[in-house]
Amino acid sequence: MSTFYDEPVHLVRGQGVHLWDADGRQYLDCYNNVPHVGHCHPRVVEAICQQAGTLNTHTRYLHEGILDYVEALVATFDAPFDTALMCCTGSEANDVALRMAQALTGKTGVIATDHTYHGNTTAVHQLSQTNPPPGGYWDSVRFVPAPDSYRPLGGEPGMAHAQAFAAKVQEQIDALEAAGHGFSSLILCPFFANEGFPDLPHGWLDPVQAVVKKAGGVIIADEVQPGFGRVGTHFWGHQKIGLRPDIVTMGKPMANGHPVAAVVAPAATMQAFRERFRYFNTFGGNPVSAAAALATLRVVQEEGLQENARVVGDYARDGLRELATRHECIGDVRGSGLFFGAEMVLDRGTKEPATAFTKRVANAMRQQGILLNFLGIHYNVLKIRPPLPFSKANADQLIGTLDRVLAETPLA
Ligand code: PMP
Repeated sequence: MSTFYDEPVHLVRGQGVHLWDADGRQYLDCYNNVPHVGHCHPRVVEAICQQAGTLNTHTRYLHEGILDYVEALVATFDAPFDTALMCCTGSEANDVALRMAQALTGKTGVIATDHTYHGNTTAVHQLSQTNPPPGGYWDSVRFVPAPDSYRPLGGEPGMAHAQAFAAKVQEQIDALEAAGHGFSSLILCPFFANEGFPDLPHGWLDPVQAVVKKAGGVIIADEVQPGFGRVGTHFWGHQKIGLRPDIVTMGKPMANGHPVAAVVAPAATMQAFRERFRYFNTFGGNPVSAAAALATLRVVQEEGLQENARVVGDYARDGLRELATRHECIGDVRGSGLFFGAEMVLDRGTKEPATAFTKRVANAMRQQGILLNFLGIHYNVLKIRPPLPFSKANADQLIGTLDRVLAETPLA
C-alpha cells in the first residue's frame, strides 16, 4: 500500500481536528473524512467501549442495536428508502449494490465514469479506469467521461453539459444492449468526489436519470464520500443534486473509523436481492459496529455538524477565492460544505493542469503541519475534506498557510 507525501507521516494520536506524529509534532487535519465527527470523539469511544464490554457477536442473532441504527439511518432519507443491509467496507457495499441491481433488472451491464473509484472487490475493481484490472475489463462494464465543470464535455457548462453526459450514458446503454448483456445499473458518486467534485447545479443529473429509467436500469448512488452531512446543505449528496437513486451505498465516515458500511434501499429491492442471492456477512452490523455507527450519527445530528460544514465550508471557500485574486495558479475554486478545493493551472487562459506543482504544494503543506491531498481528472485539484468540527479559526490557519506555500512553491 502506498503512503501519502514524499516524507510519509507517522501518526500516533488524534483529537478533534488535530493529529500528532511520533515526534510529538501537531498537524491540522484538513483531509480525513473517516474521523467524521472528530478524531477520538468521546461519545463514539464510549459507545464502542461500553458495547465491547457488554456483548459482541457475529450477526446470526437478534440484537436491537442494528435495528435502532437502521431506523435512525433511514430516517435521514426521503421515501421510499426504508431498509438497510450492513457490511464492513464501501467496496462490499458497492459489490452488494451491483448484485441488487442485477436482481432487480435481470441484466448484468454496468456503467461508471472513467475517473472514479468504487472499491477493491473483483467486481468493483472492474469499475476503475484509474487502476486497470490485470486481466482486463469485463465486456459488461462500460465507461462514460467523468463530468468536469471546468472543462465541460461539449464546451458548454450547466444543463448543456448535463445533456452531453446523458447522451454518453445512452450510447453505452445501447452498446450493452447490442452486446447482449442488457443494462442493469449506472453507478456514480452524486458529488463526483474522486473525479474532482465538479460544480454541478441542482437537477444536473435529471437528464441522465430519465435515460436510465427509460432503459429500465437502476441508479446506484455511492455516498461513501459526500454522505452524512459533509456537503453542508443536505445530509446526502444525492439530495443536494436532486437525484432520486434506486440504491444508496455508504461507508468511510459512518462510524468515525470503526469499519462499518451499508446499502440502503426500498424494502422491495432488498427482498428481490434476498430471493436471488444468499448473503451473510460475519461482522457487518455486529453490536459494537452498530453502537459506533449510532453514536456517530447522533453526534452529527446533535452537535449541528452539517450546519457547521455549511457555514465553515462557505467561509473557507471565500478564503480560497480571495487567494485566487493574488495567486494566478488557482484556476477554479469548488466544492460544498467541508468538501472543497482548488484546481491548479499553469495558465488560466489555456487551463493547462499544474499537476506536478499541486503535488509539491500538498507536500509543502504537510511540512507546514497541514494535511491535505490532491486528486481529480488531472490530479491537480487540492482536496480538502476535514473532520466536520473544523472551525473558522482552523480555516484561517489553512488559508494563511496555503497563501505562504503558494507564494514559495515554484510553479514550473
Ligand atoms: N466508493 C468511493 C467513492 C470511495 O472513495 C471509496 C474509498 N476511497 C470506496 C467506495 C471504497 O471504500 P472502502 O475502502 O471502505 O472499501
